[in-house]
Amino acid sequence: MAKILGSQKVGGVKQRKSTKQTIKKSKSSDWVQKRGLLFRPERYKYVRKLIHSGGCVFCEAYKLGINKESLVLYHSDYVMVMLNKFPYNSGHLLVLPTRHCGKLLELNDEEYFDLQLQLRLAVKAVMECYNPTGCNLGLNHGKAAGAGLPDHLHWHVVPRWSGDTNFFPIIAETKVLAETLDQTYAKLSPYFIDKSDKK
Ligand SMILES: [Zn+2]
Repeated sequence: MAKILGSQKVGGVKQRKSTKQTIKKSKSSDWVQKRGLLFRPERYKYVRKLIHSGGCVFCEAYKLGINKESLVLYHSDYVMVMLNKFPYNSGHLLVLPTRHCGKLLELNDEEYFDLQLQLRLAVKAVMECYNPTGCNLGLNHGKAAGAGLPDHLHWHVVPRWSGDTNFFPIIAETKVLAETLDQTYAKLSPYFIDKSDKK
């Protein structure tokens, strides 16, 4: 009997917790909707999968060329630099091989060296354009490591300012963005114009 009562009690507590969590989530959701400015990367990842259930978004962007629609700012012989369509921070760039490849060890030397050069170029552009006090560079290698699109390698370049949120909470939580993608593209594009004459 005592066991049954204990079980009921535990069940009751769980029920109350669950209700509280539901109310908390509901309030949070209402607040997000009212604000309308908040960015939720985890939600956008889901939307992105729905929109691009077919081909690779990066290969598609490369085929579209250098323009605001593709979000591609520049490409060299083996590498392109583009805006992240779902940025974690304003000025968030992606640096990636133009060839569809999801494994670092399958890159040849030319591609790998070119990636390092273009990563440096991307950091230079972000630092000069946004004047951040720091910058996160990162590659999520494989789905288990958190890559949203694991079949096509892409390095993140994210400008950072002292006192802003830590990198991982930015990825996992809600984020306020200070500018639109069009504005970001217009601001960063000049830093790549003279480099884009190659192709
Ligand atoms: Zn691809």
